[in-house]
Amino acid sequence: MYQELGISKETVEFIQKCEQKLEKSFKKIDEQADLNSLKVLNAFHKYQISEVHFNMTTGYGYGDLGRDTTEKVFAEVLGAEDALVRGQFISGTHALTVAFFSYLRPGDLLLSISGTPYDTLHEVIGIKENTSSLKSFGVLYDEIDLVNDDFDDEKILSYLKKKKVKMIEIQRSKGYSTRKSLSISKLDRIISKIKKVSPSTIIMVDNCYCEFVEEKTPTEVGADVMVGSLIKNLGGGIAPNGAYIAGRKDLIDLAGERLTCPGEGREVGPSLGITKQFLQGLFFAPSVVASSLKTAVLASYAMEELGYQVEPRWDEERVDIVQNIIFGNKEDLISYCQGIQMASPVDSNAVPEPWDMPGYEDQVIMAAGAFTQGSSIELSCDGPIRPPYIAYMQGGLTYSYGRLGVMRAISQIKKK
Ligand SMILES: *Cc1c(COP(=O)(O)O)cnc(C)c1O
Repeated sequence: MYQELGISKETVEFIQKCEQKLEKSFKKIDEQADLNSLKVLNAFHKYQISEVHFNMTTGYGYGDLGRDTTEKVFAEVLGAEDALVRGQFISGTHALTVAFFSYLRPGDLLLSISGTPYDTLHEVIGIKENTSSLKSFGVLYDEIDLVNDDFDDEKILSYLKKKKVKMIEIQRSKGYSTRKSLSISKLDRIISKIKKVSPSTIIMVDNCYCEFVEEKTPTEVGADVMVGSLIKNLGGGIAPNGAYIAGRKDLIDLAGERLTCPGEGREVGPSLGITKQFLQGLFFAPSVVASSLKTAVLASYAMEELGYQVEPRWDEERVDIVQNIIFGNKEDLISYCQGIQMASPVDSNAVPEPWDMPGYEDQVIMAAGAFTQGSSIELSCDGPIRPPYIAYMQGGLTYSYGRLGVMRAISQIKKK
C-alpha cells in the first residue's frame, strides 16, 4: 500500500527508525494539547454552549447569539478581554488590515519591531506602492530589524523616547524570512519594557501559526491586541474561512466599527450558519496543532538525517507550526513540494509549479491539496523561489496523514 502511494520501502523503514527517536518530543506535544483542550472545554462550559448557538442569522445579522457567544469563548481561550471572530474576515491579512485601519489615523506612526512584515502586508502598509495603502492615507511607517533573531531592545526604546509611535506591530512567525520565530518569553520581555517607556502605544501581535503552540498568548503578556487566521491553527481544519482579532475591549470595538461601518460595528454581520464550524474547529484545534507539530518534528529530524539544514531543529523549543527545510537548490525544493502535493487527499494529481502570486514579490511554489482552499493547518508546503531555497512546511490534520506526506516528499526527492 505504501508503494501504491509512491513511497519506497526504504523510506518507510527510514521514517520508522526516525520515529523511535521522537517519542519524548511527541509526549511533550501531547501534554500541551491536553492543557489546551482543558482550556477549550472550560470555556465551552463557562458560556454554556448549546445547540441554540449553532443557529444562524441572515441579512444584517442583528442579535446573533451564536456569533456573540462564540466570540466570548474565543476571548476566554485566548486569555483576552474580548474578541472579534468573523467569517467576514477574508483572511489573516484582511484582519491585520482591519486592525491597522482601525487604530491608525493620518499623521500617525506605525513601527514594526520585528523587521519587514509578511509579504502580503507590503501593499497594505505602503512598503510597496498601492493607491489604497496606509501610506496613501498619510500614515507613516518605520521598522527596526531583529538582531540575532531577537528584539533590538536598546534601539526600540530609544526610538520610542524620540518619536511618538501610535502603534507597534510584532510578527511572531517568521513568514518567508530566514529568522527564527519569536517566543512568548521574548515578547514578554520587550512588551514590559515598551509599556514603561510608552504606555499609550498600541502593541499589535501578528499571531498567525502560533496559537496553542506555547502555553501563554501574547495578550497574556501585555500585548493590546493580536490577530490570526481561522484557516490556520484555531480553525482546527473545520472553519471554512474567517479570522480573529482579540485583545482589549475598546480596541475590539474599534475593529468592529472598521470591519462593518461606524455606528453599526459589532452589532451586525450575519453568521450564516458558520458558528458551529468555528466552535467545532476550536474544539479540535489543540489536537490538530499537536498533529502539525509532530509532523514538523518528524520532517525536521528526517531531513536533517538526510543532510539538509533545518530550522527549527527537531529538539528545539517551538513557537509556531512552521518547519523550514533549507534545500540550497531549486530542484529539491520543487520535488519536495510536489511530493507533499502527491500525498494530499484533494488534487493529488495536480503538479505544483512556481508562479507569480498576487501579494508576493518572488515566484512562489505552493503545495496544498486541502479541503479548504489555501488552508495551511492542513498539510501544506510552500516556498519562494530564491536562494537559499527554503521550504516552509506546516499543518497536518492528523499525524498519520502528516507522516505519509513527509514520506512521499522524501521519496520524490530520492526518485529525482
Ligand atoms: C498566514 C500569515 C498571515 C496572513 O496570511 P493570510 O494568507 O492572509 O491569512 C500573516 N502573517 C503571517 C506571519 C502569516 O503566517
